[in-house]
Amino acid sequence: MTTTRFAPSPTGYIHVGNLRTALMNYLIARKAGGTFILRIDDTDPERSKEEYVDAIKQDLEWLGLHWDRVERQSDRLDRYAEAADKLREIGRFYEAFETPTELDLKRKKQLNMGKPPVYDRAALNLSEAEKEALRAERGNGVWRFKLDHERIEWKDGILGDVSIDAASVSDPVLIRGDGQVLYTLASVVDDTEMGVTDVVRGADHVTNTATQIQIIKALGGNVPNFAHHSLLTGPQGEALSKRLGTLALRDLREQGVQPMALLSLMARLGSSDPVEPRSDMAELIEGFDVARFGSAPTKFDVQDLFPLTARYLQTLPLEKVADAVAAAGVPDELAEPFWMMARENITTLNDLKGWWELCRDGAEPLIGDEDREFVAQAMELLPEGPFDGETWGKWTAAVKEATGRKGKGLFMPLRKALTGMERGPEMATLMPLLQVIRARK
Ligand code: GLU
Repeated sequence: MTTTRFAPSPTGYIHVGNLRTALMNYLIARKAGGTFILRIDDTDPERSKEEYVDAIKQDLEWLGLHWDRVERQSDRLDRYAEAADKLREIGRFYEAFETPTELDLKRKKQLNMGKPPVYDRAALNLSEAEKEALRAERGNGVWRFKLDHERIEWKDGILGDVSIDAASVSDPVLIRGDGQVLYTLASVVDDTEMGVTDVVRGADHVTNTATQIQIIKALGGNVPNFAHHSLLTGPQGEALSKRLGTLALRDLREQGVQPMALLSLMARLGSSDPVEPRSDMAELIEGFDVARFGSAPTKFDVQDLFPLTARYLQTLPLEKVADAVAAAGVPDELAEPFWMMARENITTLNDLKGWWELCRDGAEPLIGDEDREFVAQAMELLPEGPFDGETWGKWTAAVKEATGRKGKGLFMPLRKALTGMERGPEMATLMPLLQVIRARK
């Protein structure tokens, strides 16, 4: 049974980068009819905040990425302690006492000598008495996992065959001096005990994966299928990491981006499949295959979300957006014709308000000097409201007859007089919605 998880740390809002991870794991689980777990990685009590846990859930719900169950690492500390004991028992866990400054110095020396900055395992040579003395002086040490120095290999769902020399990686610290269990161990214990079969995460986790594979094996667990997606860059290929804060899902929601637009983009961006607006999750699940994603950095342009949102909205019937139409102030009896007009002319639902204000209050007319007389004459011929779908055709025919104008010279000044714009909705569709014509004397 396929089981995946999305495992955010509740130390901030989720952004487009996290979303990519969440979505891929979600789609894998749903496509296989499996289980999708939301795992809150909150072993860091200082940085984890309850408000972010709530925000993460809200954002996922807004997108329709529903989870089957929630797990919290802070509830499972005893499981991690048990795993740590086991690693001690089998001789794969050792206490080390170097301070950050000492470690830094060692790294610098190694780099100066042209060597990779890998932890030198000095702590393995400490006698019990020396450890006791260090403990008395510095407090408890950190606990490091002793890697087997061999090549660690796996078939990655996106990167293909990966092979990492364990000797080029420092023995990872799994428990801090203050006893806090670090993600690397917690994640392994969870993935193993929760039966996670597939893990998709960012390429920044590749080295983690190598060490985690050894830890999983040491604990006697099954190694899941790993896939590492490339990291997102800005449109020019620039690193996005600093700007991700401004690409939080809640900001995009605020700006009117539609969930399906965001999902349509993120489920295909960086893959060999084209990005097309999809109308529902089933369509996204249908065509999804993690193997179609490439390892090259993926360019992301937030601006792409707006045309996708517009295209998606164009397909929607009123019932899908009735709340937003009502919230813009449109009275019930005009909701249907208003939406049919508006959906062709908006980028996001945030634009509805402006269109309704134009209908309700009329637009400031835009009239060139050369058209002043012509527009005045046309206004004489404009019937009293309310207008209907035929008003525009009948009226312009009458104006044409009276003035002899035709084509653009006829229609454009009238459009500008009624809407204050040179472009816009079909006038025949718009007219029945206009409550006020300010160009009328
Ligand atoms: N909490 C980790 C992170 O946000 C999870 C990584 C993983 O998927 O294993 O980076």
